[in-house]
Amino acid sequence: MTSPRKNPDPAAIWAILEQVKDPEIPVLSIVDLGIARAVNYSDGGQLEIVISPTYSGCPAMYMLEQQIREILTEHGLPDHIITTRLSPAWTTDWMTEQGRDKLRAYGIAPPEKTSHNKSVLFGGQKKIPCPKCGSDNSEQISEFGSTACKALYRCLDCKEPFDYFKCL
Ligand SMILES: [Zn+2]
Repeated sequence: MTSPRKNPDPAAIWAILEQVKDPEIPVLSIVDLGIARAVNYSDGGQLEIVISPTYSGCPAMYMLEQQIREILTEHGLPDHIITTRLSPAWTTDWMTEQGRDKLRAYGIAPPEKTSHNKSVLFGGQKKIPCPKCGSDNSEQISEFGSTACKALYRCLDCKEPFDYFKCL
């Protein structure tokens, strides 16, 4: 057999990408977040990973690209290109349901889908369900939580403060 190494199935590539975690929220992978957009092979068999950066203010994107390179190389795929796609811009709506569940289990209220919550755009007060007890009797304590991407809320029922992953 003289055939060159076989390209792994895209599903296998997605599984590798699952191992790249958000540096701020280690339970979330770049797949959960919707940062990893596509796994493509060109006609010549060139592997391409398409990513969309999240918040432009988050310094993590360069690091994530490095991590993607490292992990693909570790898996015997040093020959790949990473394409950054800026349009359409990433929004929290791209976060997968699995990602939202993981976030909740981690104690952070997942972003509300913007389509459900148009009032946000007009400065309406949001009801964010508490990730610990599920009560939506909560209040915002601070617009900024542990990082700029999160807001700090407090549950008025179980009295626990929690982070809310802000919508974009
Ligand atoms: Zn609560």
